[in-house]
Amino acid sequence: MESHVVILGAGVVGLSTAINVQSILPNARVTIIAEKFDQETTSDGAAGIFRPNLELTPSKSSQQARKWLQNSFDWFDHIWQSDEGPEAGVIRVSGYQFMNEEVALPIHRHMDYGFSVLSNEELQRLPVGKRYKYGWWYDTLMVECRRYLPWLMKRFRKNGGYVISQKITSLSKIPECDVAVNCLGWGSRQLFGDTDMFPVAGHTLRVKAPWVKQFYVLGNGDNFIYPGQDDVTLGVTREVGQFERDYNPKTFNRIREICHEVLPSLKNAPEVRRWVGIRPHRHDIRLEQETIKVDERTLRIVHNYGHGANGVCFSWGTALDAARMAVTNVKVSSSRL
Ligand SMILES: Cc1cc2nc3c(=O)[nH]c(=O)nc-3n(C[C@H](O)[C@H](O)[C@H](O)COP(=O)(O)OP(=O)(O)OC[C@H]3O[C@@H](n4cnc5c(N)ncnc54)[C@H](O)[C@@H]3O)c2cc1C
Repeated sequence: MESHVVILGAGVVGLSTAINVQSILPNARVTIIAEKFDQETTSDGAAGIFRPNLELTPSKSSQQARKWLQNSFDWFDHIWQSDEGPEAGVIRVSGYQFMNEEVALPIHRHMDYGFSVLSNEELQRLPVGKRYKYGWWYDTLMVECRRYLPWLMKRFRKNGGYVISQKITSLSKIPECDVAVNCLGWGSRQLFGDTDMFPVAGHTLRVKAPWVKQFYVLGNGDNFIYPGQDDVTLGVTREVGQFERDYNPKTFNRIREICHEVLPSLKNAPEVRRWVGIRPHRHDIRLEQETIKVDERTLRIVHNYGHGANGVCFSWGTALDAARMAVTNVKVSSSRL
């Protein structure tokens, strides 16, 4: 019998996990089942900047988080250095973060291509900087899921993967398999009854402003301007406990006003998209396995969800570990050779 691994979810976490399973078990049948793909996922709307903030997604230990993040950064760097960077949506960006309160230096400073704390004199020389007491400059990567998800999917299909477009309404609907990996993001709350999950809604808008070449982050990421390959993302809100996607124009106008104060030239930038996403928060990323009795069968599940505000940054690192966990005890078959 052919070994079969099912991946639930086609966001950045599910696709990354699926590809890692394929690379460890090239002869296994790997099937992705998801209700939504590409532009309909939460991952698609993420700004995708590699600026992980552990206050927003705590992890079991900072050592664990560092490992996941380093593995992700190394993977994104590998793509950026290849000729596939632009198609995969991985670009290198540099810019500033300004704060009025002194905070601990961020975990990504050791991964970035460059990181420096701005002196008072440097802050005074920057038009926005002089309004703030503290500032950092850094040079990092941005992974735009608008391009990255289709690139991952192309790779998955090329490796012989199968895709089913379906909403899973109960665990009994998961097909026969050796193991299923749960990468449902926010959907885990309902399907697996995980009430530790809580929503944090976020608004962003995208504008056409090809003249913007550097990013600006205010405070702890409360507002930002991120130039991507095709457009510039302006953000953001963090509405803890907000389950609904509320497209109130006032919220978007407020974001624009704040960003115009940073870069007045943005006033002339035409809008491309308004978007609200629900960050799949949890007190910790859940990466562990369990066996569940479903009707007459025992289902082995590996969980990989709850990436909160940093799902793109953590995606490849957690996918590597989830895939390794998933393939343990899966029989290697030669039937697809
Ligand atoms: C405004 C905003 C900005 C962000 N910016 C960044 C950033 O700059 N950097 C960063 O790292 N992260 C960022 N994030 C966070 C990031 O978007 C998420 O952490 C990430 O997208 C989670 O990915 P995921 O694959 O777990 O979930 P999703 O992308 O939501 O994918 C879940 C998948 O599961 C499927 N699914 C769910 N339930 C079911 C079901 N019952 N049956 C079948 N399929 C189902 C969905 O259809 C989908 O395919 C941002 C988020 C927001 C809201």
